[in-house]
Amino acid sequence: MPHAPIARINANALRHNLNRVRACAPGRQVMAVVKANAYGHGLPALLPALDSADALAVARLGEALTLRQAGYTGRLVVLGGVADESALQEAAGHSLELVVHQHHQIEMLHRSRLPRPLTCWLKVDTGMHRLGLEPAEVPAAFARLAASDAVAGQPLLMTHLANADDRGDPRTGAQLAAFQPLARQLGGPVSIANSAGILGWPASHGDWLRPGLMLYGVSPFADDSAADHDLQPVMTLQTRLIAIKRVSRGEPIGYGGRWICPEDMMVGVAGIGYGDGYPRELPESARVLLHGKRAPVVGRVSMDMITLDLRDHADAAVGDAVVLWGEGLPVEEVARWAGTIPYTLLCGITSRVEMAIHDSRTSSG
Ligand SMILES: *Cc1c(COP(=O)(O)O)cnc(C)c1O
Repeated sequence: MPHAPIARINANALRHNLNRVRACAPGRQVMAVVKANAYGHGLPALLPALDSADALAVARLGEALTLRQAGYTGRLVVLGGVADESALQEAAGHSLELVVHQHHQIEMLHRSRLPRPLTCWLKVDTGMHRLGLEPAEVPAAFARLAASDAVAGQPLLMTHLANADDRGDPRTGAQLAAFQPLARQLGGPVSIANSAGILGWPASHGDWLRPGLMLYGVSPFADDSAADHDLQPVMTLQTRLIAIKRVSRGEPIGYGGRWICPEDMMVGVAGIGYGDGYPRELPESARVLLHGKRAPVVGRVSMDMITLDLRDHADAAVGDAVVLWGEGLPVEEVARWAGTIPYTLLCGITSRVEMAIHDSRTSSG
């Protein structure tokens, strides 16, 4: 048994979560968001589990080209669009779809001669004030794109919700109210909803759903968990106990001696640390799973190791599996302890962590 950390990736859970997306908003198209290496879960290994998605979406051109090189031939949207002519040519050469969010991109499309027209998604800034054109600018931009030889048919309208993860926030209703008149006026399919929109805001479902986080089995809301939405965690991050030692009452544990043993006790050392993407900023309430039971993390998180209070785990032995998050310990909870969000923990897994995919439909795992 290796003593190094491993991220176990459950492709069956991903398929289940994709079905949950469809159940939440029947009849809509699904653009599965796989930016940042599928939120740290590992591409292209996960592609077979996504083969029922209607399209995939990434943030950047480079991510899209990597997926094409890996053999993905389906619809593929670059959410950040392209910045210059050579990127545009590459996007066209690989049949990518582009989000258009600035005037200079529209002019570039007008000037360029492309091997074939591209599907374009026109992004409307309805209140997030990050990417997108102001609603008042959209009809003219839409017409100009629709008239361009570089654009396949009419552009599709999209926007992005800034506060959908708070189900009581009135700003989501305001964003939808800013978007709907344009959608009615210009026609064609539209895309609004991220995971929080899909789960919490039926009025945002539109024609194309853009789930990211929920596909990986994580709730986007701060006040509930994935199980409340029948989502299954895709990643289980685990390692093993690499040492167990008896430490006397009053002795400190780890860097800075921040934690002092309250009695003579057994302390376990597990092989994972911030060098693997496990968060360093953890309060005393932080726990891991050992034999399916929670064990406190004591002392500072080091680069390669953490130390555990084994007083309630008399049967623990070197080599035993320690789960950091995933099945049995939601990453949402770890994120709350660390004062962060699940997105950063999942994306923050470093390259020295081995990824092992399990997929009952293929022979791997
Ligand atoms: C990342 C992203 C999504 C997915 O968001 P989740 O909250 O992970 O579901 C959807 N749309 C856009 C434009 C994004 O950048």
